[in-house]
Amino acid sequence: MSSAAITAKQLFIANEWRPSTSGKTMPVVNPATEEVIAEVASADRSDVDAAVAAARTALNGPWSVLSARERGRLVRQLGERLMARADDIARLETLHNGKPISESRHIEIPAAAECFEYFGGWSDKVTGETIPVKGNHLTYTLREPVGVVAAIVPWNFPLLLAAWKVAPALACGNTVILKPASQTPLTALALGELALEAGFPPGVLNIVTGAGSTVGQALVEHPGIDKIAFTGDTSTGKGIMRSAAETLKKITLELGGKSPNIVLPDADIEAAIRGATMGIFYGKGEVCAAGSRLLVDRSIKDEFVDKLAARAKKMTAGDPMDPKTRFGAISSRKQLEAVLDYIESGKQEGATLVAGGARTDIGTGKGYFLQPTVFADVTASMRISREEIFGPVLATIDFADLDEAIAKANDTPYGLAAGIWTRDIKKAHYVARKLQAGTVWVNTYNVYDTAAPFGGYKQSGFGREMSAHALEHYTQIKTVWVDLNQ
Ligand code: NAD
Repeated sequence: MSSAAITAKQLFIANEWRPSTSGKTMPVVNPATEEVIAEVASADRSDVDAAVAAARTALNGPWSVLSARERGRLVRQLGERLMARADDIARLETLHNGKPISESRHIEIPAAAECFEYFGGWSDKVTGETIPVKGNHLTYTLREPVGVVAAIVPWNFPLLLAAWKVAPALACGNTVILKPASQTPLTALALGELALEAGFPPGVLNIVTGAGSTVGQALVEHPGIDKIAFTGDTSTGKGIMRSAAETLKKITLELGGKSPNIVLPDADIEAAIRGATMGIFYGKGEVCAAGSRLLVDRSIKDEFVDKLAARAKKMTAGDPMDPKTRFGAISSRKQLEAVLDYIESGKQEGATLVAGGARTDIGTGKGYFLQPTVFADVTASMRISREEIFGPVLATIDFADLDEAIAKANDTPYGLAAGIWTRDIKKAHYVARKLQAGTVWVNTYNVYDTAAPFGGYKQSGFGREMSAHALEHYTQIKTVWVDLNQ
């Protein structure tokens, strides 16, 4: 197994590395040092045309004649090769995203590898059915690939969110064009190196880097693409839905969230404090399912908020490359400024700042570091309670009883995830049913598994990532009727 460093910076099309047609590049910045760490190709429409042509050729050629079992073996190989290079790739993920190396190395990269392993296992188990119909017919279904899939992913979990799309798409026999976020293209490009090593036929996996407004938009509009699998901002998702209507592409959208984390007075309070902290500060709060609205019963609110604030104040930002760091750098200057703007709006609108609230540094005078921030006395109309901040900022809201907790939890256009902390098992199941969210965690938060579906209710999108449900989005059903009359 090779231990060579991962260095790809060009477009990956038809198993070849090539510069963009225009020759343009774009810088990749390390948010912990503000230094440019790479220049990668910046593609445009003509590069997208080339990637689509490669993906279609593969779809109708070598990829279509490979047995499902062999296809699955190749997909699993990607996972194995990812783990073999886990140190290098985790380093890249931390360098371009700013997340702690411990998260990249021990959570994200293994989860991405596991996703390839899991879906590779499904390849030869996706079957049709025979249907008892009227008349003398043999009627059966084939589950066929959708075709060329464009996977468009954001910058917060660059490799994992790519794996959630690429793995089931390939496992089901589609070909893929992957478009990473312009801030974090390095680990997606690494996937190209691994696909080459694993022996995928040319054009099965293509990786095109560039701006969302050019490359992303070109993919969404391209008549040669059959499906868009998108993760990102809700407003971008709405635009994609409008643009994809023109060619009636199939789409799945995993969008934003403003997830409630509810603490009832009978909860294990210490566990709930740990869960609330991890729910918002894991991944610097740049987590779509972050528990960014903490709903606490009024009778325990003061004590709870005091303890939570004390805990948040102890969490300090550190060098993301240090294995001991648990809280890294905000992913970009733009994101840092957006989060600081929300903090200012919280203060202006009358919320009480009980922890953090300011930019910080780690002794280098550089980097986009922020203090973990907690607001108390937040009301429903405030922007910090309604809008997705996508950063380490917690809005604490109180409630008088269970009905009010549920009403407040559901008072959002989003519906990605929710948490409930209680020792009362009946209440836990009751609340789980009442919450309008695609995932509900009881006495835990932010846990995921490749075998468990993940996706949104309401404006958090539609479709499910991971699990057997994902296979439905990457296959289409053909019904075959055979007349059996002599
Ligand atoms: P974004 O919507 O700005 O960008 C996401 C991707 O879309 C990027 O690759 C970007 O280049 C591309 N893009 C931008 N404009 C496009 C266009 N017009 N057409 C096609 N593609 C375009 O989102 P972001 O800021 O990178 O990511 C943060 C958002 O992602 C947050 O809202 C977060 O909640 C969401 N998110 C959701 C999930 C989930 O599973 N539901 C997971 C992670 C992140």
